[in-house]
Amino acid sequence: MDRRTFLRRAGLGSAGVAAVAAPVGTYALGHHVGSTQLDGNYSASVKAGMTRGGVNVWWSVDTDGDKVLALTFDDGPTKQFTAEVLDILGRYEVPATFFLIGEMVVRLPDLVQRMVDDGHEVANHTYDHFSAAIQSPADVRATIERGADAIAELVGDRPRWFRPVKGHVTGTVLTAAAELGHDLALWSVSRDPGNGTAVDDMAGVRANYIEALHEGAVVIFHDGIGRSAFEATGPDDDLVLARRTEIDALPEVIEAYLAEGYRMVSISELIDEHAAGRDATG
Ligand SMILES: [Zn+2]
Repeated sequence: MDRRTFLRRAGLGSAGVAAVAAPVGTYALGHHVGSTQLDGNYSASVKAGMTRGGVNVWWSVDTDGDKVLALTFDDGPTKQFTAEVLDILGRYEVPATFFLIGEMVVRLPDLVQRMVDDGHEVANHTYDHFSAAIQSPADVRATIERGADAIAELVGDRPRWFRPVKGHVTGTVLTAAAELGHDLALWSVSRDPGNGTAVDDMAGVRANYIEALHEGAVVIFHDGIGRSAFEATGPDDDLVLARRTEIDALPEVIEAYLAEGYRMVSISELIDEHAAGRDATG
């Protein structure tokens, strides 16, 4: 989207730009898009004094040369992809972290139970999978808490980790995460860091995952298709194809990481092993 289109969608003339100097950006490494659609015109500010404490936000961690990374999977569970992903991870005996949509947790609890039984970490990715950039602060707070509770109901505890939808970090996201005791996980390695890889370009996607590999990486895959897994309009064909491509690339990506001498661990293990005594800026 060019700047003019963005402004038009945001309902702003050029005179309005200064008033929204901080439209909600996406903070993921390699995805530093300058602006995103701001339908709701909600502020990205964090009100001082509303919440005590703080929240850590991690893209990756400095491991001092230790070859270790965390595989993560977003938007599951789904009947299309999750069992296959669990089979692949089981075959290579590597743990991962699943950022779950609460609505899908409720619909497919057996797959979440299998994640836990197989030794994977489960984490919160909201209940309804709307971007925080287009939801009211009250709705953002509610979907994060409800997502955490959907997991707690199944596995006993609210999860430690939260990943915002599309990497959209707003003031409300930070405040709600702090209040709920979440750490925030973004990512440093993805299928398409330059946003130029075709959805069905398996070789390109595989190469992106392998070339971007680094020590302490948080690698993002998907075993779901966003809200289209439960919307009345049905699965989004483009997303299904994009996810199919990712999962097809997964075995060779894991093999490449193993061949490079990498260990794969849960995101809690990655951070806790290497971040003792320092915060996310360290
Ligand atoms: Zn997502």
